[in-house]
Amino acid sequence: MLTEDARALLATGPVCDTCLGRPFAERSFGLTNAERGRALRTTIALDDDADFEPDEPADCWVCEGYCGTFDAIAETIVDRLETVEFDTYQVGTRVPPLVEENDRLLREDAGLEADAGEHIKRDVNREVGRRVGAATGTDVDFDRPDVLAVVDLEGFDPLEAIETGSVTGHAVDVQVNPAFVYGRYRKLERDIPQTEWPCRECGASGVQLGDDGEEPCDHCGGSGYMYDTSVEQVVRPHVVDAMDGEEGTFHGAGREDVDARMLEDGRPFVLEVKRPTRRDPDPETLERAINDAGDGAVEVDGLRLASYEMVERVKEHDASKRYRADVEFADSITADDFETALAELAGTTVEQYTPTRVDHRRAELTRERTVYDIDGELLEPTRAEVRIHGEGGLYVKELVSSDEGRTEPSLAGLLETDAEVTALDVISVDGEDEPFELEEYFRT
Ligand SMILES: [Zn+2]
Ligand SMILES: [Zn+2]
Repeated sequence: MLTEDARALLATGPVCDTCLGRPFAERSFGLTNAERGRALRTTIALDDDADFEPDEPADCWVCEGYCGTFDAIAETIVDRLETVEFDTYQVGTRVPPLVEENDRLLREDAGLEADAGEHIKRDVNREVGRRVGAATGTDVDFDRPDVLAVVDLEGFDPLEAIETGSVTGHAVDVQVNPAFVYGRYRKLERDIPQTEWPCRECGASGVQLGDDGEEPCDHCGGSGYMYDTSVEQVVRPHVVDAMDGEEGTFHGAGREDVDARMLEDGRPFVLEVKRPTRRDPDPETLERAINDAGDGAVEVDGLRLASYEMVERVKEHDASKRYRADVEFADSITADDFETALAELAGTTVEQYTPTRVDHRRAELTRERTVYDIDGELLEPTRAEVRIHGEGGLYVKELVSSDEGRTEPSLAGLLETDAEVTALDVISVDGEDEPFELEEYFRT
């Protein structure tokens, strides 16, 4: 019988409503444990026609007062989050081992199952969480909350917290999860890397040790960087600033060579902002600020607020690329031979052994890649413009040059003359099976 169990629990000593109700947490969804406990206590008092004298949390031998501190904990969390914008939260609690032990002894002494009802940790998480949600108008998210508050119950004195209505600061640790902005970038000038490129020689310090002590690094000219700017350096500060975060990380959907431009539809990227205090900057304002700073060399468009899953999306999603290349031949070729060679390459699968120019830390092996389409114009007997649509991972410079026979077939091989890409532009980067921009990856 329910009331018999409740009587057995009350016989263990002074027990507060929440601790009395917790062993019955599975009953009557919609009640709090305090309401369950209060109802049982009331029923028993009426049954016995005894004076009603509830035990306050401060006197409770099980929680030692902690069940009276939910308001104080929530108040402290809300205070700490006052300057942070968020839509979703989660509360986590570290319960003192002695209190967990009391909660176990309560059931044992009353002859209940050891796991009757719910764990006190869950109780505190939910009760504090409900109060935080109500005070801030936000929702709990157990999967990926914007903010996470971890409460260490041992970090404060419960009786003091009941008295003062707040808990000591170090008992509450507030973590703000990153926020994400998705977009596509264009790089309209050559020799701009995607991400900042620190000088390896001086470790980005800009100085080296000479005969007379420190002097500017020869390798980078003293700037510490190999290039004046990068797409990342144009984009990052504005997004970090708009979200009032601490730092930012640039994630690109692959990258083009430093000397290649990225034109037309641009390349997908995500800028991740750590510890943002604002989560919904206006994308159009942000876009204008970045494009002003890009000064015609770097542009972004299609900026949208994205979910954290978008980082993996841009990094992992298979994408085909369209290129435009200026090509020079060592010997004069005819328009007929040129057309025949392109027709031969269109739709073919090429074998590419790891190019000589590629970082040799990368595994050397032969990869098969499809040339979806290729066409072009011979502008002079030794000069052409070629447009290529290729599977992700196709090495375009090598498709033209053959890389000393490491790529087969190749334009140079088919024409039996040396051929070289003198300028390369990436025109678009598009998902192979579906677009990068599925709605489920955005925050609306
Ligand atoms: Zn209690
Ligand atoms: Zn240097």
